[in-house]
Amino acid sequence: MCGSTHSTRLWMAKGYEWSRCNVCHGLQVTHLPTPETLDDLYNKNYYEGYKEDYDMSRYVDYIGQRSFIQSNLKRRVTWARKHLALAAGATWLDVGCAAGFLLDVVREQGFSPYGLDYSDFGPAYAQNELHMPNVRQGTIDSPPADFPNAFDVVSYIDVLEHIPCPRDILQKSIDLVAPGGYLIGETFDPNCWFAQKMGAAWHAIDPPNHLNILSLNAIDDLMTSRGLTHVASASFPRTISLPSIATKLYQPIAPSLYRSPLRNVGIPLWFNDVVIWLYRKS
Ligand SMILES: [Zn+2]
Repeated sequence: MCGSTHSTRLWMAKGYEWSRCNVCHGLQVTHLPTPETLDDLYNKNYYEGYKEDYDMSRYVDYIGQRSFIQSNLKRRVTWARKHLALAAGATWLDVGCAAGFLLDVVREQGFSPYGLDYSDFGPAYAQNELHMPNVRQGTIDSPPADFPNAFDVVSYIDVLEHIPCPRDILQKSIDLVAPGGYLIGETFDPNCWFAQKMGAAWHAIDPPNHLNILSLNAIDDLMTSRGLTHVASASFPRTISLPSIATKLYQPIAPSLYRSPLRNVGIPLWFNDVVIWLYRKS
């Protein structure tokens, strides 16, 4: 993320070796998985893991958990909105938007919603069930031809850690923000107390899902070097599904929870290890 090539090997986690940048102290897998591995991970059942063999690298039941996933997102949008000086109808692009749950909240609050997701599952749901035609399968490397050239808000909630080249993506995202617009991200903090205490057992260390845990200082350096100003940061609790929690605490019961109706029960947790940040372009 900071551009340094000097890193120190740390430990193995879930079959991947991790390294720490000597300069910004961000974490990353030493060797990225192949594009085929990532394509296979983000296929349809990434969002409906319960339909396959127990595999917590996928969402258990993304749609079934809509109520608590959306309330997690609503808390973040409500916070961000207080800091945004934008007129009604401003455009909001959510990258890695999954089924459009955040955009549904954004639309309620008067924004024009646009979304991109790598997998086709989420956009199909957003178009058919939430009636948002501007939620599409794709990436910001080749946005749909009918999308605006710039957006008043670009957001990345729980997305940047999944991306093999986050610095490139953030650079391109800055180009997509309109003058006076905002870039919002929510990322794990690799230098927080909890991360340092947990090491390889930290729940953010979750390859091949998570490939990078970006240093907040490196993000700030990139933003300020491109003329963006830090507006606000915060950390909120989030509600996590019972099978996800069981996977970490007592794995033997997790596979049966994964298939039971209890899979969609959520419990709020807060470790102060995730930060939502908001920058404004001049
Ligand atoms: Zn670095």
